[in-house]
Amino acid sequence: MRSGSVSILTPKEKNPMPISTKEEDERANSSSAALLSFNRDYSSSDSPPKSVTATVLFVSLVISTSVALCAAIVFGFLFFSASNSSASSVKLDSTVEASRRLAKLKSPVVLLISSDGFRFGYQFKIDTPNINRLIKNGTEAEVGLIPVFPTLTFPNHYSIVTGLYPAYHGIINNYFTDPESGDRFTMHSHEPKWWLGEPLWETVTNHGLKASTYFWPGSEVKKGSWDCPKDYCMFYNGSVPFEERVDTVLKYFDLPSDEIPSFMTLYFEDPDHQGHKVGPDDPQITEAVAGIDKMMGRLIRGLEERGVFEDVNIIMVGDHGMVGTCDKKLIFLDDLAKWIAIPKEWVQSYSPLLAIRPPPGYLSKDVVAKMNEGLKSGSVNNGEYLRVFLKEELPGRLHYSASDRIPPIIGLVDEGFTVEQKRSRRQECGGAHGYDNTFFSMRSIFIAHGPQFARGRKVPSFENVQIYNLVTTILNIQGAPNNGTTSFPQSILLPSR
Ligand SMILES: [Zn+2]
Repeated sequence: MRSGSVSILTPKEKNPMPISTKEEDERANSSSAALLSFNRDYSSSDSPPKSVTATVLFVSLVISTSVALCAAIVFGFLFFSASNSSASSVKLDSTVEASRRLAKLKSPVVLLISSDGFRFGYQFKIDTPNINRLIKNGTEAEVGLIPVFPTLTFPNHYSIVTGLYPAYHGIINNYFTDPESGDRFTMHSHEPKWWLGEPLWETVTNHGLKASTYFWPGSEVKKGSWDCPKDYCMFYNGSVPFEERVDTVLKYFDLPSDEIPSFMTLYFEDPDHQGHKVGPDDPQITEAVAGIDKMMGRLIRGLEERGVFEDVNIIMVGDHGMVGTCDKKLIFLDDLAKWIAIPKEWVQSYSPLLAIRPPPGYLSKDVVAKMNEGLKSGSVNNGEYLRVFLKEELPGRLHYSASDRIPPIIGLVDEGFTVEQKRSRRQECGGAHGYDNTFFSMRSIFIAHGPQFARGRKVPSFENVQIYNLVTTILNIQGAPNNGTTSFPQSILLPSR
């Protein structure tokens, strides 16, 4: 049974016209019926004496004629508008696109592609004919995909495949320490204990379907029904050329139809890699974007050669954006020493997400108050660009408190600023992400192409936790509970035939 299929069958935009047509018809009928019965009542009323008749007859004739005339005009008007609107609803019905039939594949396939750090707008830096082809013939978040907070690689990739905010899927940062065990999570930690929630590859295999992962944070973790099968689950190795990754994914389409994975991931480190070194506005980024477009071209060509390009649901996303950072935009924790000393041992991460866990004996509330006092004093360099919170007091929209893994004190830095422990003579500019997810610079892309996506459609921006339900709906499987909204897929996907 397709999850949420009932709602998908009734697309939002299809409703208004037919309903209003029906209402118009009824109104037209009842109005005319009332007018007719008025006429009938009048004419069938007790006849007045013949002696008074001529004038009365004449007057009543005039009245009934005008009433009839009015009725005719009203009726005609109502009939005209009713038929007009029913004509347009017929027209609308015939133009509402339904999902397209699969030409070659036996069942739906979703290929989820991530281009790390592909900030929304990068696609305008240079001609990207292949990405443009997907946009033109597919569905795009018009002003980008909204990442979850913190706008970092691991938390966001794992939110995309679980539909959960980091507090619930457990990957609350790229690096963190578990307060209970004292164990340290790094981007190489593959023990299942860190990775909560149910990622798409697990959901897919739970339903007896196949999945393949050409890199994705969390994909090497053996969890539930997912045992990271050989040849279908690649262990991360950043030195594998992008071409090889694309070609491996293409080869899955050469398998017998019942062995083709229903869900595949494909990951590219660019343009994040360059973004950190040189910031978002540098010729190196333009070059990296062109490189990603070339890979999309290679993929499209390969799918076309196999006759499956129109059959595959390609969802191309990025995990977050990128903003320029520079040595003038630094905030040093040591500058707060006059108010409170923050030793580096307390700090779990500096920037852009400042996360502090003071040792026992210190009240987090007092630490926050003293830090903010110093920052607001005007004598801390760039102090006004850092605000420190108890995690429970962070804005609710960040969904960043419901986990013990999140340290009790969180600092939010303004766009482009960096927090460091102590002053240095470092003079450099680069790029960073991890900031508040409302910053436009943190937005990424959502471009989807395939039989379940309308051609040339623009949709409003949405958070990436919605993608999980989108994929399970396309694959016709029941997903695990998550933070996405169940009605979301119907606002993006074409109605099923
Ligand atoms: Zn990055």
